[in-house]
Amino acid sequence: MERINNFINGEWLEPVGGTYLDVFEPATGKVYCEAASSGKEDVDLAVQAAKIAFPEWAETSKESRSEILHAIADGIEAELDQLAEYESRDNGKPIWLAHSVDIPRAMTNFRVFADAVMEFKGDTFSSEEFGENTIHLNPLGVVGCISPWNLPLYLFSWKIAPAIVTGNCVIGKPSELTPYTANELGRICKQAGLPDGVLNIIHGEGKFAGAAITEHPDIKAISFTGGTETGKAISKTAAPSFKKLSLELGGKNPNIIFADCDFEKMMETTLRSSFSNQGQICLCGSRILIEKPLFNSFKDEFIQRTKQLEVGDPKRDDSQLSAVVSEAHFNKIMKYIGLAKKEGGTILAGGTPAEINGRCENGWFIQPTIIEGLGVDCRTNQEEIFGPVVSLIPFESEAEAIGMANATDYGLSASIWTDDSEKAQRVAGKIDAGVIWLNCWMVRDLRTPFGGMKQSGLGREGGVEALRFFTEAKNVCIK
Ligand code: NDP
Repeated sequence: MERINNFINGEWLEPVGGTYLDVFEPATGKVYCEAASSGKEDVDLAVQAAKIAFPEWAETSKESRSEILHAIADGIEAELDQLAEYESRDNGKPIWLAHSVDIPRAMTNFRVFADAVMEFKGDTFSSEEFGENTIHLNPLGVVGCISPWNLPLYLFSWKIAPAIVTGNCVIGKPSELTPYTANELGRICKQAGLPDGVLNIIHGEGKFAGAAITEHPDIKAISFTGGTETGKAISKTAAPSFKKLSLELGGKNPNIIFADCDFEKMMETTLRSSFSNQGQICLCGSRILIEKPLFNSFKDEFIQRTKQLEVGDPKRDDSQLSAVVSEAHFNKIMKYIGLAKKEGGTILAGGTPAEINGRCENGWFIQPTIIEGLGVDCRTNQEEIFGPVVSLIPFESEAEAIGMANATDYGLSASIWTDDSEKAQRVAGKIDAGVIWLNCWMVRDLRTPFGGMKQSGLGREGGVEALRFFTEAKNVCIK
């Protein structure tokens, strides 16, 4: 069986402990390869390599670093078809989705930061009283990038690109569930001319490999995307050594629909924001708040279109949804559907596993599910399910909608649907979320800040925010 090893100092090394983890294909429920089960010793080796590579990489001109990032993007682009197949096999998502979203976005991440770094420089302040002040933005050193399974290469590269382009050396850890394209990225980076030791990729479980990265005294910053509980654990571990932290965590995003919206555009987008990637996008809207006069017509149309969604083999172009990422995640989602019923909710569509015949008969598929009849305070409407499950909640007034939208511990994103642009801006101003879409969803200019409020995270990624995170400002004053 194929084995994925750690990528350290430009070489593929077996884990020091010699053990491997099974990697499953979610669509079939079968093991298809193994990934290194790494721990502290592996992370130590990676950090040693990164420390050796750092001085030269930090001194490399930003023009040269930018060129290498473009070459990495070219490498991803050249292998789009193959990478999309790998991503789909690892994660369960349709190949067409990986081909149109995940892999192109990974490529774009490298291009965007390759360009952004060319404009990135510290300010200067000059005055008779305080002299000439020049701010240098220096790389931090060795940094950790830990990413989740839902958008594997997309989110891994979103961290790695700004980290390396600013002159840092990286210890990256993809989710143990989806290690395959991260491993391919190591190869592509090497081919693109990234010096050995600048990017090191460690595979393994969060509680061992991830924790060893977070704890390591020579790692200066952690950029993490994942669940809120893991984010809390990382914060606790990192705090005593004053590591810089960027935390992109969970969400329970509201989708606020006013009766005066463009119904067709809202309906088509709401289907996508509910069920894209099997609802496993941190930005999916899982609480759909609908103004009362529109509630019944929204509900009828939404049920009808949801029931028409095709759940099937990720290899098929007509599969709109495919498998969820793992058996454990399948069980978690099904448990939440059970909880929704216990809490008094009515299942309007789905609510059951999807039976797929043939190759995928043992895969982990769930029908897109709509729940109605639950208040905002119940667990179903408070906890992140992270699957193809949404809850419909009616509201009477703008104030009530805002109150409901803000009534969770999370604050990642929100969508607002109305033809009244003043109302849209007014409501946006009152929603506690880092990313708000008016009459659209998932539209991302990568130069804008991205991140959550409350328990959805700390700090912002994207554009200059990411470049700042991976650098340290030093003011040099002369008078
Ligand atoms: P997890 O928090 O379980 O894992 C994320 C990563 O952290 C994985 O690589 C994981 O490894 C690792 N990890 C786990 N425990 C530790 C630890 N103690 N120390 C260091 N690393 C650790 O999240 P999921 O992979 O389940 O991803 C889903 C979550 O990610 C959802 O909550 C979702 O909302 C969130 N997310 C947030 C986004 C945002 O931008 N705000 C975007 C996308 C997802 P392992 O896989 O081995 O456990």
